[in-house]
Amino acid sequence: MRRICILGSTGSIGTQTLDIIRQHPDKFEAHTLTAGSNAELLIRQAREFNPDTIVIANEDKYDLVRDALSDLPIKVYSGAQALCEVVEAAPIDTVLTAMVGFAGLPPTVHALKAGKAVALANKETLVVAGEAIMRLAIENRCPILPVDSEHSAIFQSLNGEQHNRIEKILLTASGGPFRNCTVQELQGVTAEQALRHPNWTMGAKITIDSATMMNKGFELIEAKWLFGLPAQAIEVVIHPESVIHSAVQFEDGAVIAQLGTPDMHLPIQYALSYPARLPLPGARLDLFSLGALHFEQPDTSRFPCLRLAYEAIARGGSAPCVLNAANEIANFRFREGGIGFMDIPRIIEETLARVPFVPAPTLDDYPAINREARLVAARLTGSLKK
Ligand code: NDP
Ligand code: MG
Repeated sequence: MRRICILGSTGSIGTQTLDIIRQHPDKFEAHTLTAGSNAELLIRQAREFNPDTIVIANEDKYDLVRDALSDLPIKVYSGAQALCEVVEAAPIDTVLTAMVGFAGLPPTVHALKAGKAVALANKETLVVAGEAIMRLAIENRCPILPVDSEHSAIFQSLNGEQHNRIEKILLTASGGPFRNCTVQELQGVTAEQALRHPNWTMGAKITIDSATMMNKGFELIEAKWLFGLPAQAIEVVIHPESVIHSAVQFEDGAVIAQLGTPDMHLPIQYALSYPARLPLPGARLDLFSLGALHFEQPDTSRFPCLRLAYEAIARGGSAPCVLNAANEIANFRFREGGIGFMDIPRIIEETLARVPFVPAPTLDDYPAINREARLVAARLTGSLKK
């Protein structure tokens, strides 16, 4: 029996993780559930799964949640600091990080320091502080199991290949809803259009990141840290069908890939059950009905966020943290209708140019760098006065 803490149980990844736990009650137990603001869903989840502990990060919702569960022996906490404390509880085996954004970093650091296995969905953690996080994992002997579908595919392709040299990683990308748009068309697209992803149903932030291809830029950085490869050895391949979830090319030219229907339940379940595979119901890949698979080069003139990610990881230091912070602000402002789609890369590039570069930040430095970059980006989006 693995006892799981889900950070972000009310989100897209969080609710799918609970589907897996519901399917395998003999294998997994929801020990701790945490949410941002969605008190109603967190209460329902607590009633169904009867966890030991829950956290509602938004302190204004604390009384509501506590009162609704007063007949049950569930510990209820609130606030960002509580997230860092609950992950350390002795019975927890695995912390699944399904919070969105920089907010996922501090509790992940606490989980690793407490020696927990981390099933990592929150890619922003590795974008911001990949080097420090991988070091912490090694020092504390904690496995980091990828939940992101591409990284799970790479991880699955590396089974039994520990001693073999990787020549390159083929990181596949759907290309998002605007794959065939011209720059002119991209200038006019709305958040509503961007939120309609062709293949995947995900939270709002990552869906916009997929449309700008910042998501693929983040995944490139995530892959560099998880698999210890230079960014130049990671090639982004547009593959609109999202069937090949990514692949590894070895030095003899062999390419090993993992294929399947686009469904996050598989990578989530594999991160929890590794090295075992468990039964998983659902649609199966049907190559005959697909007929053909397609591949294209990415175009960074139409999708500059991908170029910005390559540049930020090449520069290193605080650059990826600034990239992430500026993207969080620009992504949010675009969803609010405050800026245009092509303003997103412009604001990120400008923020990277303005925020002072820190060559070798420590984990303690990231909150201040994140704050400063968010302020600069917010001014550039016009949501803050100069
Ligand atoms: P959602 O927006 O659907 O869910 C985010 C979760 O985090 C919710 O439970 C939300 O709570 C909680 N949350 C948000 N902000 C805070 C905060 N400040 N403090 C505490 N909790 C907070 O996101 P997704 O599930 O789509 O994505 C989660 C992570 O997984 C992201 O990093 C994303 O990049 C990554 N990922 C997602 C994939 C997907 O298919 N969705 C695929 C691969 C990676 P509430 O709703 O209660 O406010
Ligand atoms: Mg992905």
